[in-house]
Amino acid sequence: MKILKFGGTSMGDANTWQRVLNIIDRYQAPFIVVSATARTTRELLSAANKAIESLSEAQTKAKSIQQRHQKIISKFTDDYPKKGDQCQNICGQWIDEQIRELKQALINIQEAKELTPKTKDAILSIGEQLSSYLFVQCGSLFGIPMQWVDAADIIRTDSDFGQANPDTDYLKQKAPELQELVHSNRIPVMGGFYGHDANNTTTTLGFEGSDYTASLIGATLNAEVIEIWTDVSGIYTCDPRVIDDAKPISHLSFQEATELAYFGAKVLHPSTTKPASQKQIPISVKNIFAPNEPGTCISHEIQETEGVKAMTFKKDCVVITVTSSNTVMGYEFLANVFDILRWHHLPVDAVTTTEASVSIAIENGNRIDDAIEQLQSYGSVELDSSQGIISLVGCATKKAQLLVNDILLYLKDTPVNMISFSQPKGNLNIVVPKEYVIPSIKEIHQQLF
Ligand code: ASP
Ligand code: MG
Repeated sequence: MKILKFGGTSMGDANTWQRVLNIIDRYQAPFIVVSATARTTRELLSAANKAIESLSEAQTKAKSIQQRHQKIISKFTDDYPKKGDQCQNICGQWIDEQIRELKQALINIQEAKELTPKTKDAILSIGEQLSSYLFVQCGSLFGIPMQWVDAADIIRTDSDFGQANPDTDYLKQKAPELQELVHSNRIPVMGGFYGHDANNTTTTLGFEGSDYTASLIGATLNAEVIEIWTDVSGIYTCDPRVIDDAKPISHLSFQEATELAYFGAKVLHPSTTKPASQKQIPISVKNIFAPNEPGTCISHEIQETEGVKAMTFKKDCVVITVTSSNTVMGYEFLANVFDILRWHHLPVDAVTTTEASVSIAIENGNRIDDAIEQLQSYGSVELDSSQGIISLVGCATKKAQLLVNDILLYLKDTPVNMISFSQPKGNLNIVVPKEYVIPSIKEIHQQLF
């Protein structure tokens, strides 16, 4: 059996829902995971952020989310008038209920003058609660009997709001229930991205988390493949929105795909590959607008190439340089520095060290200031927050040094700040000032692909 996951753009409007239903129609006993409709998660986030200063602006955003969903339903009920009224009623009630909850949460934020991570997760999960439930109703109207599965009943996580970690043992216990759903005569559809912690409070897995949900379900059900359906034909040599002639890649190893996701490629949640690779289940990235194109297959297999497989970038990074006040026992100094980063959950993108100092590139974020304060107790701290990072993946060739040499030559007019290269892993990370990120990747891409 297969897991099919449809992302935000696939869930964009009534037309793409139709496409998705046509795709689902070709599969035997699939399990479906869906994202929120396009833009909804961002809009929920911006409503939540706005609520403190302007409740009315936040409510306007809630209204637009409501209308977007109503519009999809109206189109379906117009196209499939048989049982249309019934569907309209069920969906209308569901939308009203979710929007009422949203509006109440916005009022609470305004009153408390605070948006807690817990409230934020409750709000963000509304996108998937809307899309998944409504999709089931429209699927049935279209002629594919479906049944809604509330992710809150299936995905148990810890309470790290905003980037909660799933409890895989709990999921294992759910396996028989999930199997039963797959083999019932209605196709199970579940919203990705959210779950519940042990106190029954809503949590989310981080942006793009629906991919991760799909992979977790796939691993639990020992699926033959996990298909991630999107609006482009797979993973590209670089973001096709930035590089016009980026090309789809036919194959990536789990590790290469993880590196790409971790270093900023928006195609997959960085944890997506973990459950799938543990069970050796391939992930296939496919395009709803060109369903017959092969897309990208991600699997255990490692295919060596002559050059770089793909590249990605982050435009907003900070380089923190800590210089130890005490040069003896450099290992202890490093251990202390990394301990602080661990404590603040700050994932490191690139590192260079000397005996007495360490430079660390980290994606910009709100946990950095506290970390810096603590780092100061181990030495002097310099901060440069105008940096970006370019990452090249899959350069594990025998001629890697020559490749790195060439790449640095392409950047001869760019003030490179840090380089970290690992030959066995085939990863090259280059830290450059923010404004050089896009011109640099364009230059490298043009030369390499
Ligand atoms: N809707 C969430 C997001 O936009 C989760 C997902 O779609 O993967 O990140
Ligand atoms: Mg996605």
